Amino acid sequence: MKERKLENGTPVCVTCEEEMKAVKATISGTDVRAWRCSKCGEEIIHPEDAQRALTIAQLKEGVEVKVGMLNEAPYVRFPKDFEYLIHKGDIVSIIPEAEDVIKLKVKHPEKA
Ligand SMILES: [Zn+2]
Repeated sequence: MKERKLENGTPVCVTCEEEMKAVKATISGTDVRAWRCSKCGEEIIHPEDAQRALTIAQLKEGVEVKVGMLNEAPYVRFPKDFEYLIHKGDIVSIIPEAEDVIKLKVKHPEKA
């Protein structure tokens, strides 16, 4: 059987078997893909998005990592939890805002 991706189809409510409608939803300020049953109000959230929102909420205070040096250039490694937020091939802009504040902005080319 072919895997059916949630975002490519219309999910059906497990309770009343009605087709669910895509709705806008956020978890702790993070946009997530969600669907709602217009009959019983049951809501489902895309599991990848739920995991992403959870990871953001858990890591909001920041994670300390040690700076290494490679070919005279400093580097840091992201902890494994960040696998839900950034992926191979993503483009990261490194933006120094102050001596002790460096912001990272992530583009996800495969989502565009
Ligand atoms: Zn329903």
